[in-house]
Amino acid sequence: MNNKEDKGTMGKQKWILWDIDGTVVTATPGWAPERTMAWNDETLDAGPIEGAVCLVIAFSLMGYKNIFLTARDVTCKKNTVKKLKEIGVWPYVDALYHRPMRYSGIASHKYKHTMYTMLKKTFNITHAIDDEDKNLAMFADQGLCVINANVFTTNNEGGE
Ligand SMILES: [Mg+2]
Repeated sequence: MNNKEDKGTMGKQKWILWDIDGTVVTATPGWAPERTMAWNDETLDAGPIEGAVCLVIAFSLMGYKNIFLTARDVTCKKNTVKKLKEIGVWPYVDALYHRPMRYSGIASHKYKHTMYTMLKKTFNITHAIDDEDKNLAMFADQGLCVINANVFTTNNEGGE
């Protein structure tokens, strides 16, 4: 690529926006505001979603960078890092954002919309990968290429 092309969008680093729960690790049910700390501990029992883990690595090999944006609140960050290390994703995490306390109680898609609006000022985000319909619809409305993470957990073997 020559310098002239570099000045356009072609040369811009592209970023993938990843959800965590239900996307790269199995969902942890039973979150409620009054049991956040217990729920944080339960996230350590989540398992990897292999298709998504492979895709994280594939995007990295293709030169993309990965931002993880989770609705887990900041008190869970230590456990999130531990889990992402355990499932082999951590080397490919280029940025990680948890829900700040000031966004507690806000619906996931609204919180993510607010965060995306902020993040896109810094990062050239091209794709979003998430398992929640409202989040996917919101990201699609923002013009992102969206991947529904449920494809990684749906049985696609067919009838025969
Ligand atoms: Mg999710």
